[in-house]
Amino acid sequence: MTARIPRRDLLARAYLDILTDREGASGKAMLRSGDPDDPIEQLLTDLSPGAEAGGKASIRADLAATAILVARSIEAVDGLTRDLRRGGPVVTLTTHAAELVAPVKHVLKNCAFGNDAVVKDIGSFADNYGRPVLLVARDGTAADHKPDRGNDVVGSALHQGAPVVGVAADPERHLPRDLLRSCEHSLSLGQLDATAIALTIEAVTGSAPAAKIDEELVRAADVWDLPLAVRPDTTPEKCVELLEKIIRNKTIFVHRGPALEDLAGYGEVFQIGINLVADLKEYKAGRLKWEAIENTALLVAGLPGTGKTQLAAAVAKSAGIPLVSASIAEFNSAQYLSGTLSRIKAVFEQARRLKPCVLLIDEIDGVGDRATMSDEHKLYWTQILNFLLEQMSGVGDVSGVGEGRTGVVVIATSNWPDRVDPALRRAGRLDRTVVIEPPDTESLVLIFRYHLGPDLLKDVDLTPAALAATGGTGADAQSWVRRSKARARREQRDLVLDDLLRQIRSGREGLPEGLRRVVALHEAGHLVIGVGLGVFEPRAVSVFDEGGATRIDVIRAATQTEGGIENFITMLLSGRAAEEVVLGKAERTAGGGAGGPESDFGRATNAAIDLELQLGFGALGVAQFSQRASEMLLHDPEMLALVKRRIDRLYRRACELVSANQAAIGAVSDRLDCAGYLDRKAIDDVLKDHPFDAAIPGPTIDKTKEA
Ligand code: ADP
Repeated sequence: MTARIPRRDLLARAYLDILTDREGASGKAMLRSGDPDDPIEQLLTDLSPGAEAGGKASIRADLAATAILVARSIEAVDGLTRDLRRGGPVVTLTTHAAELVAPVKHVLKNCAFGNDAVVKDIGSFADNYGRPVLLVARDGTAADHKPDRGNDVVGSALHQGAPVVGVAADPERHLPRDLLRSCEHSLSLGQLDATAIALTIEAVTGSAPAAKIDEELVRAADVWDLPLAVRPDTTPEKCVELLEKIIRNKTIFVHRGPALEDLAGYGEVFQIGINLVADLKEYKAGRLKWEAIENTALLVAGLPGTGKTQLAAAVAKSAGIPLVSASIAEFNSAQYLSGTLSRIKAVFEQARRLKPCVLLIDEIDGVGDRATMSDEHKLYWTQILNFLLEQMSGVGDVSGVGEGRTGVVVIATSNWPDRVDPALRRAGRLDRTVVIEPPDTESLVLIFRYHLGPDLLKDVDLTPAALAATGGTGADAQSWVRRSKARARREQRDLVLDDLLRQIRSGREGLPEGLRRVVALHEAGHLVIGVGLGVFEPRAVSVFDEGGATRIDVIRAATQTEGGIENFITMLLSGRAAEEVVLGKAERTAGGGAGGPESDFGRATNAAIDLELQLGFGALGVAQFSQRASEMLLHDPEMLALVKRRIDRLYRRACELVSANQAAIGAVSDRLDCAGYLDRKAIDDVLKDHPFDAAIPGPTIDKTKEA
């Protein structure tokens, strides 16, 4: 007794036979039901010229797979197989990638319309053939692949009752408008699945694989992967093995980089990533609904090299899901607008197929902000942007499942988030922007450790390198490590910390010793007085090659009153005050507090002006002046005198506080000078031995101003 073949692929088998025959190969007929009375079997015999030569079939695997997918989509519509051969149906067939348009055309032309058909495209269609068929295949690569081209030919084909079939990855944009308007059957090419691959292998090698093919890998297979693995001279089992290897090696599955848990330097973004990973794992396990995931579309911003791309890959790796990568530059490398659009579409298609997955769109600001564009550019970009938006919202989902973007986490990156078109950032699209700040000292230590690995500079404190690298990014750290490793290797010796320092500084001097002491003292002044007055919680304080920094979290509640704001100003002035009180006027530095609105003095002065003119704490009472009015008022010597008086008073107060707390400031600055870096714990350790001396009770309000 012969086993019955599932009816579903009978048409596919017939197509494979025809193609094998037409390719001139010595093909054997594909397995059929074996029942001569079966009406489908009769139809197949009719369709196929029926080469029964035995031996191995040898059409290319990609063509075979395309034939299977085309046959399946035709077979799915009742009566269409016959109608294409005998009647005049109007059909569109959407492929999931532009690359498939040509092979689909080839399959249809050779297999779908029967032996008596004369199949022509727009350019060569004429009405003087026996049984004309209009087959319009457009992949968007030619200038005339547009809705307004070819409608007249469609009209005459319809008039003759000829079958009219349009094939495109993006029918709306590429096929003649009238073809779509008269279309009776809108088909979509299905995705490869395990049975289609097994049948492809059978078509190419002559026998089907016995082993089952991993479904998850199958979802990542593209038709054009098949010829690499499925070849006539290979056993079916070997084909499967090769194919699995090829697919596994695709970048989407190769998580070469680090997992998220192994990374540092992402500040607050780290936790967002960790939460996302946890949610994705729950979703994958079926315990969480997609809608319940907090962020499924992120815009990750940050300077170049802060690890934005790496973050997306690390999320995918940690969640154990594929990563699909794309960038606007890549989309744009196509020659025509239509090429760009079909690339975008293909990437979203792939992502939808691989869900759950992470779709990375690098440098999304490449789309630009239309507000700042010339009209000519605007038109071009608007089309790209609209298409991207459509894809992102899932409207362009041709899978027919209607699930939109479900299962696809979009992570877009940008060095310039301000340049990203607001439409992309609206709710439902990239509705959450997270910023990766350049890493702080602690993070730089961890990033250096990550790139050095566990064995190089083992047990060496990397803080000096991190301090020298202040302001640098993860990408900088990686390249410094790489270069210092190369140098040590060239000189055939072990890597030492100095190698790293030398690379980081690359000829630049560290702070001269005397200046370093002044900088340490300056930062100690801010720290001790700021903590003492309750202005901030310290995070860390450091001295590095370009100066010093005290990282703080301002205590908002304590800095909202007039007294609180004055405390804040006092803290800002305590850096310079510490230099002056401890070392004397001659040793004061220009770098510490002066220079620009973001300097200590700049911020202190602005706060003092705000107290006078904006916040209602000044001589003018509860008035608030516009920017312009404030600027004019500041030309008034009396107003300037008010600001100066307040600053002077607070500077005196800073000096008094510094004098009263000189021991604490000295202890902090000594340790800072020595170590270069104190974290919160080290700060607390020093300060607990030196209780704050408030010198004079509370902030004093200057009564003279009320006079
Ligand atoms: P971006 O996309 O922000 O320009 P990338 O993600 O391309 O940056 O990072 C470039 C390289 O810098 C990464 O391959 C990685 O080696 C390194 N890098 C960046 N940030 C970090 C980090 N936080 N920890 C470790 N390496 C990092």
